[in-house]
Amino acid sequence: MRQEVTVRVNDKAKAEFQRGYPLIAKEALENADVLETEGTIVNLTDKHDKFLAKGYYGKQNKGYGWVLTRNKDEAIGQGFIERTLAAAIAERKTFYDDPNTTAFRVFNGEGDGFGGLSIDYYGGFYLVSWYSEGVYSFKDEVIAALQNVADCKGVYQKKRFDAKGQYIEEDDFVAGERGEFPLIVKENGINFAIYLNDGAMTGIFLDQRDVRNAIKERYAKGKTVLNTFSYTGAFSVAAALGGAMKTTSVDLAKRSNSKTIEQFSVNGIDYESQDILVMDVFNYFKYAKRKEMKFDLVVLDPPSFARSKKYTFSTSKDYTHLMREAIAITEDKGVIVASTNSASFGMQKFKGFIEKAFKEEDMSYKIVEEFTLPKDFRVRKEFKEGDYLKVLFVKLGKRKNVAES
Ligand code: SAH
Repeated sequence: MRQEVTVRVNDKAKAEFQRGYPLIAKEALENADVLETEGTIVNLTDKHDKFLAKGYYGKQNKGYGWVLTRNKDEAIGQGFIERTLAAAIAERKTFYDDPNTTAFRVFNGEGDGFGGLSIDYYGGFYLVSWYSEGVYSFKDEVIAALQNVADCKGVYQKKRFDAKGQYIEEDDFVAGERGEFPLIVKENGINFAIYLNDGAMTGIFLDQRDVRNAIKERYAKGKTVLNTFSYTGAFSVAAALGGAMKTTSVDLAKRSNSKTIEQFSVNGIDYESQDILVMDVFNYFKYAKRKEMKFDLVVLDPPSFARSKKYTFSTSKDYTHLMREAIAITEDKGVIVASTNSASFGMQKFKGFIEKAFKEEDMSYKIVEEFTLPKDFRVRKEFKEGDYLKVLFVKLGKRKNVAES
């Protein structure tokens, strides 16, 4: 039997839980010391022992666990998980029905009613990600529920809960039949080669689907495109299919070269007519400036934090600097796709970084399009922090010609 404990919360947290806030933050708890075993069911009460909500204990960088229900009598077992999952699947009907998109998020943590758990669909296979030991203790129920309510060929998993929130390597195969990788999935008609059994990442970040589509449909035609922090080159592929004159992909990781070649190849694009560079983005900026190179479209999608031999980059400290580097090698009237997945600040602050960069470069600009998470990455209105993605399409004005003035 799963353990169950009662924990009191302070008055501030009480009001938040009553409004539907899903995260059990450490600061909310008056007697957090009763929490011992991850996966324990937690009944949250106010000072007068009035029931507020029921959740589970699972430590993540974000907090101590998640609320699952505000109904005192609801049992948290396979039935609950099956109902929650079935509702999430029903919500994605348009995705399941679309033959041009065969990879999407089926279950998005607290947005779908179970924080710490996400499930993605890749061409008939399901990939479950566990973000704490606590949520992993529900593994048998979640996998059984998935097999009952979804039509799955096979199930894979990623454990993402060592002490630093990093991926834990082990055999990722869980149930059903094993896939053959790469698995080719589609996204708005673009092919992507996917691996469910090869480390922390699969080959594409599904949350950028709408951004890739915008680039392909509205921004790439006839343009020179620079894709920085390019990983497997997904944005470059979208641009090339959208009619870009040429793409340049820059990433520090050695394997990004073969991975990018593969993504071009599964789309029938001659990779030799594209540039794929394994190098530090900051060195590339220097190189491009020296060669007086300029691009029509520049994609900036850095990790929240990165350290290379020479540079340390933290989105919240260095985005303005990164943006200035990008502005310097973008054509007049060109577009910069400024993206970040950092949950540590919101859209307003992100716009502030962009504003500052243009001010320092003494240039005008206009935000022409704005994206947050796509529909399948469901977020709750009571938990805006869950919507971590921020993408701005920024059009440059005309540069003041310093020589003439
Ligand atoms: N934009 C990509 C995802 C980027 S993931 C996409 O949409 O698919 C972050 C990538 O940044 C990783 O591939 C990592 O190797 C790369 N990276 C981190 N620091 C870097 C640096 N200083 N220069 C170049 N690439 C870097």
